[in-house]
Amino acid sequence: MSVVTRFAPSPTGFLHIGGARTALYNWLFARRHGGRYLLRIEDTDTAREVPGAVEQIIDSLAWLGIPPDEAPVSQRARQQRHAEVARQLVAMGRAYYAYETPEALQAMRERAAAEGRPPRYDGTWRERDPAEAPPGVPGAIRLKAPREGETVVDDFVQGTVRVANAELDDMIILRSDGRPTYLHAVVVDDHDMGITHVIRGDDHLTNTFRQCQVYDAMGWTRPAFAHIPLIHGQDGAKLSKRHGAVSVLDFRDQGYLPEAVANYLLRLGWGHGDIEVIGLDEATRIFDLADVGRAAARFDYQKLAHLNGIWLRRADDDRLTRLVLERLAHRTEGAVGAITAARIAKLMPGLKERARTLEDLTGSAAFLVRTVPLPMEPKAEGLLTPEARIALRELASAWNGIAWEPDALEAATRAHAEAKVLKLKDLAMPLRAALTGSTTSPPVFDVAAALGRDETLRRIAAVSG
Ligand code: GLU
Repeated sequence: MSVVTRFAPSPTGFLHIGGARTALYNWLFARRHGGRYLLRIEDTDTAREVPGAVEQIIDSLAWLGIPPDEAPVSQRARQQRHAEVARQLVAMGRAYYAYETPEALQAMRERAAAEGRPPRYDGTWRERDPAEAPPGVPGAIRLKAPREGETVVDDFVQGTVRVANAELDDMIILRSDGRPTYLHAVVVDDHDMGITHVIRGDDHLTNTFRQCQVYDAMGWTRPAFAHIPLIHGQDGAKLSKRHGAVSVLDFRDQGYLPEAVANYLLRLGWGHGDIEVIGLDEATRIFDLADVGRAAARFDYQKLAHLNGIWLRRADDDRLTRLVLERLAHRTEGAVGAITAARIAKLMPGLKERARTLEDLTGSAAFLVRTVPLPMEPKAEGLLTPEARIALRELASAWNGIAWEPDALEAATRAHAEAKVLKLKDLAMPLRAALTGSTTSPPVFDVAAALGRDETLRRIAAVSG
């Protein structure tokens, strides 16, 4: 049997990080088993649909590196098929038309509440002769659910879960206006799409019993189920905007790398030995639903930032340079052109050592695109005493004729410091202040090499001229 999984978001907003993890597990499970992973947009509730949400979901999945294997399926476009299956169930004697008005159903619920019973359909039309149907009233289709026994689901994550059939009433599968209900549509779609494994949030666990009853009534093979725990914040409440970024694209905008977010989401609720840093390629070789935990996962923004730093250091310098340039283009701090791009590329190995996010990285690269006079942090300004300014001017002269690369710059600076009976840091610290406007940066001779001779001398002249 070839594995087919699906991610089935409703386009009611941006893609939440919890949904992204569900998508990731589906993607990984399909990859692990050489199967397919599909996307179905559950767009039957047009009132709650948010414009642009579908595009956002698709963009988010693409950004994370887990785009679906085929074009997305629209649930709304399949309503005829949902209705057809509902009617087929009636023809098979597994469902029936019911003709209660909304008011009658409301009265039924109120009666149940008054008598302290759960609000279930009382089965009136299950027994009645369809010939007694009121004329001109369309009727809704209800599933003739089993009344005895249990519905049992073997879940990959939750284990065996069961419910007494007496607890479940005959749910509507097709409304009297011809629209399918959500629980019915999901089953028909999953069946028709050939889904073998349904991996989704455990908030859907209770839906599974009713969905299984539809599979059973149609004589369809049920898929395997895996209900994964939801993601909570550190305080134990369901993760929401209150805790920080929650949409995938917010994480992107805040400067996280997709591989770091994917790695973090993977580890959140799934474990394999003590592996923390793991790429998607490697994960497809070892991902297993049996290793998904049952406890709600707690989202830790600090841990994600730490992991992001690790992935930044592993990332290709050209790619990071491109990403930093894109971000710098949105700031208006200086000219972003070929020359500044080359400076950033040259210093990238040093810059990325110190950053946790692309935002940090961009901030630390910004001095490379600025023009003199540089904005100075107060501490940097403090290092540029009148003596230090003179020393820098002399240092610049001492560099005359040397090769413009870090080792030669350092050797010449050391020799000059010795000649002046100074320590290297007495020159290096004001030099850093002059070149960067800051007291922290990658090694200062790397900085000078990245800026190039002319720009370095210009920055020194700007503070000592
Ligand atoms: N559309 C549902 C949701 O967004 C998912 C349903 C399912 O996976 O079966 O929560």
